[in-house]
Amino acid sequence: MPTHKINKLLIGTNNRGKLREIRSLLPKNIEIHSTSEFNLKSPIENGKTFKQNSLIKSKYFSKKTGLICLADDSGLEIDLLDKNPGIYSARWGGRHGDFNKAIKKVYRELSKKDKNWKHKKISARFVCALSISCLDKKIACVQSKIEGSISTEPKGTNGFGYDPIFVPKGKKKTFGEMKPAKKYKIDHRYFAFKKIRKFL
Ligand code: IMP
Repeated sequence: MPTHKINKLLIGTNNRGKLREIRSLLPKNIEIHSTSEFNLKSPIENGKTFKQNSLIKSKYFSKKTGLICLADDSGLEIDLLDKNPGIYSARWGGRHGDFNKAIKKVYRELSKKDKNWKHKKISARFVCALSISCLDKKIACVQSKIEGSISTEPKGTNGFGYDPIFVPKGKKKTFGEMKPAKKYKIDHRYFAFKKIRKFL
């Protein structure tokens, strides 16, 4: 646990969707900074797990700026695809982070595995690891997830990434069809944030 409260925090992501969501979760009394203010590129994510990649980012951005950094590493695990794209979720969108391309790849890979996949429940989950680092020192690192399934076609224009194809368990709408305020209260990032907020 921290010996004093954090009053200034860098959010270590260049993903605008994540930045928006993490901002909405943070207490209003914390002064928030983003990587775009410092014109920083993201580091190479060569970890083998969400937690490792999240720590690579929080340490890297903290060392570059001297600020305490909260970073996220997240992705979509699809059971039929052996938990892919997983930590490669962003990379499936190619160099320009094209989410339509990533979604097309999901459908292509599902069809390769099972031509009949649209008639089955394709279980999947979003996973989120969050970490806080001060320079090279880890302050906290947690992980959470939300279970669900893949819709047979993309639906909705809200959110980012794989939101249009993910239906959370017990719901009928994809994340892409939900209002952001609703998604933010049930997703992987929200539950990871609940675990890490005592360190803020
Ligand atoms: P990274 O953590 O920056 O390596 O990227 C994670 C990738 O996973 C994002 O670029 C999205 O494609 C996907 N992702 C993570 N969280 C979400 C989410 O809440 N909605 C939709 N896609 C997500």
